[in-house]
Amino acid sequence: MKYVDCPLCGGNVSEKTIIRTGRCNNCYAEESLLNLLDHDSLAMRHRVEWKVNLIISFNDFIESSSFSRIFKYRIVVDFQKVINRLNDTFDSRLSESWLNNVYYDISAYKSPKYLDIIKVFFFSQSLIAFDVNNYPWSVTILDNWYYYNEDILDYYFDDRRCHDCGVFKGKQTHNFCETCTDRRSLKRLCSKSTLEKTFESIEIKNLFLDFVNFMLKSQLQFRTVHDVSNLLVHVFIRMEKLLDSTERNKIISFSGNTLQEKINIKWICSTFESYTQLSMSSTNLRKLPAAYGHFCAFLHSQHILSPDVILPYLRIEGRTVEMFISDKNDRTKIEERILSYPSRFRKLLNYYLEMKSKKIYVLEKKMP
Ligand SMILES: [Zn+2]
Ligand SMILES: [Zn+2]
Repeated sequence: MKYVDCPLCGGNVSEKTIIRTGRCNNCYAEESLLNLLDHDSLAMRHRVEWKVNLIISFNDFIESSSFSRIFKYRIVVDFQKVINRLNDTFDSRLSESWLNNVYYDISAYKSPKYLDIIKVFFFSQSLIAFDVNNYPWSVTILDNWYYYNEDILDYYFDDRRCHDCGVFKGKQTHNFCETCTDRRSLKRLCSKSTLEKTFESIEIKNLFLDFVNFMLKSQLQFRTVHDVSNLLVHVFIRMEKLLDSTERNKIISFSGNTLQEKINIKWICSTFESYTQLSMSSTNLRKLPAAYGHFCAFLHSQHILSPDVILPYLRIEGRTVEMFISDKNDRTKIEERILSYPSRFRKLLNYYLEMKSKKIYVLEKKMP
């Protein structure tokens, strides 16, 4: 392809483009945008003044970004098409799902990024009602809009501030602050499309979300919730394999039958030891004991695992994950010895043993 200089800006441009439009794409976009925003033609196209004003305000917002002319032109075109779909007498709030549908219907670019920016603008004008039940299983709101502030137009394109919540952030290379970055990662992990790729059965998918919610309820940081849940996807996939295909397709009660029977100490040991075969980062390996603790606590909370079960210990040696059932043999030994005592002592000794093992269980639970 032959390149020449653009007669307007001097930039590099293919000869083909010059023959077609007489200028580079950037200059072409700039001129198209100017034409589009010409007040008289806007008024003719949209008839009512509030629509014209909205398009001009939207363009002012886009102008504050460092996007290219082409990007700016395209998004204003999309915005104008959305405005076109609103009634002239519109005086309430449009719903987010309506906007999603309309956007993918009218846009030639169908860019989630454009759509987000359009939503942000409508939010700043109090013209949008966001959908509230995108993550109905979660105690914490994961949607981005919940973290937007009124002055979002002032900070959305400011590289020094978080695009979602507006706090000043350290690294300029990231669009979001740490909390919002972690929340967005968790949201992605729990999104419908990711879950559909990860799990086959609705039951395990829901159980996984219950687990994420269990962690959110403990008011842990988004980072911890994300990292632990992400690490345990492997465990939930193995759990899914426990269910045969007929069980997978019908609604079953996890606490009542199937899983309760199949999830035992042996399964827990082999599942966590199977992490040895995965090539894990050392960071993830370090997080595994905590993840194991959260998982066991979850199984207890769901009554999948009885609280009387003495849990094995998880130990990491180099890159090997080992599980230990330490107390079981000791306990059997003690029970045998108790039997050798006169019967009037047995009851008391058994009671003492019971108390002791409960204490061990509580201590295990307290371990991070
Ligand atoms: Zn040019
Ligand atoms: Zn933020």
